[in-house]
Amino acid sequence: MKTYRLHAPRDMRFENVPEPVINPDQVLIRVHTMGVCGSDLHRYTGNFPANYPLILGHEFAGDIVQVGANVADLKVGQRVTAEPNFWCGKCVYCQAGKQNLCVNRIGLAYHVDGCQAEYVKVPAAFAWRLPDTMSYAQGAMVEPLMASLHGFRRSRAKLGDTLAILGCGTIGLLALLCAKAAGCRVVAIDVVSSKLELAQKLGADEIINGRDTDPVETIKQMTDGLGLEVVMETAGIAATVEQAVAMAAQGGRVVLVGISNRPAQVIPAIVVRREIEICGSYLYHAREFASGIQLIASGAVDVLALVGLTTDLDHAQEAYDQALAGNVAKALIKIQ
Ligand SMILES: [Zn+2]
Ligand SMILES: [Zn+2]
Repeated sequence: MKTYRLHAPRDMRFENVPEPVINPDQVLIRVHTMGVCGSDLHRYTGNFPANYPLILGHEFAGDIVQVGANVADLKVGQRVTAEPNFWCGKCVYCQAGKQNLCVNRIGLAYHVDGCQAEYVKVPAAFAWRLPDTMSYAQGAMVEPLMASLHGFRRSRAKLGDTLAILGCGTIGLLALLCAKAAGCRVVAIDVVSSKLELAQKLGADEIINGRDTDPVETIKQMTDGLGLEVVMETAGIAATVEQAVAMAAQGGRVVLVGISNRPAQVIPAIVVRREIEICGSYLYHAREFASGIQLIASGAVDVLALVGLTTDLDHAQEAYDQALAGNVAKALIKIQ
């Protein structure tokens, strides 16, 4: 099968490799469309570790072409996406329904080859059928929506709440769609005006360009000095983590979704005296996949509005280049 496979940082090659061979519990999927994720970019540039050679890609939709002998509930020809984090179901976290924290998790395009190829295999339990009304492109957007949906749920924001979203990359914009679908008012914050324009198009009620004004001061002015009850940080930058805490109201909740290894400064006295809750949000729970498919299928969230580029496998490099340059919120690669 054809693939565009990673051999070293910034070294991806067009190759013909053997098709994956499934075991009795797996299904083989012919990949139709995949999305390039931030984690693919990190592995491509060498920021994240990889076992070379590695096929990247974990956001996709396609057709089942083969099912293992033990697979009873899926058939050849069905259109599916897949949950790319194969949790064990046995550890203390899986037992508690927190599959995102599984200690034995196997990641597609990390521990095993991903979907940037004509075919990919996954355990049948992790394949999710797509409604007939949903396109392959929408199917490829289910997984990226999940991290944002989980973050939004961690924020506990409700109908009528106002929340700030720091960072208008893919995660931030998808969180914005979730928040709008839930009936929240959203203040979107970034330093890139084209990203803020897209945020506005997707329904942001206010936008703040952190390059022109101090976002913390602006939020304070907007709220009579109180700050906001709910703040989501999706940029993964120390400065925005600090801003997120500074713009939270007393008793407010700050959800960190962006991933950064750099230290951020938090003044304990502020967190204590203002009773600010700070929590992390990582991946998603198993049951959230069904919610994501339903949100997209029902039209509650227009995930395709984020797609700035669609190319084919022969031009996959273009998707990486444009996504790395920050020119598109989401780049898709059509493989069939
Ligand atoms: Zn992803
Ligand atoms: Zn587990």
